[in-house]
Amino acid sequence: MRVLVLGAGGREQAIAWACRRHGHDVRLAADLGDASPDDTDLVIPGPEAALVAGAADECARRGIPCFGPTAALAELEASKGFARDLATALDIPGPAYARFDPARSERVVDDAIAWWSALDRPVVVKLDGLAAGKGVTVPASDGETRAAIVDAAAAGPFVLEERISGPECSLLALCDGTTAVALPLAQDHKRIGEGDTGPNTGGMGAYAPAPVAHTADDLLATFVQPVVDHFAAAGTPYVGVIFAGLMSTGNGPRLIEYNVRFGDPEAQAVLPLLATDLAELALAAANGSIGDVPLTIDDRSAVTVVAAAAGYPGTPESGATITDRGDDGDAIRFDAGVTDGRTSGGRVLAVTGLGDDLAAARDAAYRRLAAIEFAGMQHRRDIAWRAPGAGFR
Ligand code: ATP
Repeated sequence: MRVLVLGAGGREQAIAWACRRHGHDVRLAADLGDASPDDTDLVIPGPEAALVAGAADECARRGIPCFGPTAALAELEASKGFARDLATALDIPGPAYARFDPARSERVVDDAIAWWSALDRPVVVKLDGLAAGKGVTVPASDGETRAAIVDAAAAGPFVLEERISGPECSLLALCDGTTAVALPLAQDHKRIGEGDTGPNTGGMGAYAPAPVAHTADDLLATFVQPVVDHFAAAGTPYVGVIFAGLMSTGNGPRLIEYNVRFGDPEAQAVLPLLATDLAELALAAANGSIGDVPLTIDDRSAVTVVAAAAGYPGTPESGATITDRGDDGDAIRFDAGVTDGRTSGGRVLAVTGLGDDLAAARDAAYRRLAAIEFAGMQHRRDIAWRAPGAGFR
């Protein structure tokens, strides 16, 4: 089929790869352009911005099947307060939280500090809206907490959450309006530095399956299916990816956030493990019949390592020539910020290694990356370091 993938990052390359490997004709574009049912059989939007801007609604108007939620349903990611209220109404386990809106109260800073004092525990401060991963502050002291509350109140609506702790994992589910199916659990690495140090990034690497104490299907039943059931009952069925960011705490798994699209770089790790045709699954989901397509997951492991430009996650340097002496054997290269063989973005490319276990997948990824060079290339050498058997303990 003719598939149009919206977006141009590494995640979109992974979506395209997972469709092309089954023989589909895939095109990537920034927006729908003049796509019509005459030339496009399926649209898969990559980034949340396209969905929030109404890509799925526009596809519905044009009569093109789309694997992604409407703008109204994308609120699940676009408003952290909406997501928390919904999760609470559905009894989905998460941290204590409260919403604050400076437009509704002049005393919002005092109200927030009062809520925090009553909670009597450390909190996390989150801007309510989309902030490209930069809207969350995890303060290290009471002074930083106050400052973060004042800053958030100046920016707009915000959420305070009880700070919880434990390893995180990403559950990616494909939803067809009534049914959700889980892909292997992944874990990403957000900090620029090895050992999870330094500033946050869009993600420096990921691996799957992540060794978590719960199965993906159990987590799906707790964190995703109730949301799908809720939207179905409301008459607004949810089609697309629900990505639940979870934390495994001493009290069990807890919801950190929902996203309405594949993660980047989780997609580059997880999609190569999907043996079933992604385009076929996505089209079935758009038609409300994902259950008709048997889901087959490759039994192997995947490790994705991102190569970033000098300066990232600050202002990246562009224009460095990329040399690549390798070829894709048991590893795959996904470009993100590459134009005419030169660097043109913060996260330049990612390589995904596949293997019978995480250690083998890791070796394959780092072997592939060793063949690639550009001036100022930054990458972490410890992706999958938390996983037993990945070569770190
Ligand atoms: P991204 O765009 O990177 O997915 P985001 O800005 O949408 O992130 P969240 O995922 O909600 O925001 O939070 C970012 C990170 O902050 C989480 O991955 C987690 O490490 C930390 N965090 C968020 N909420 C909490 C919490 N309640 N307790 C402890 N840590 C938290």
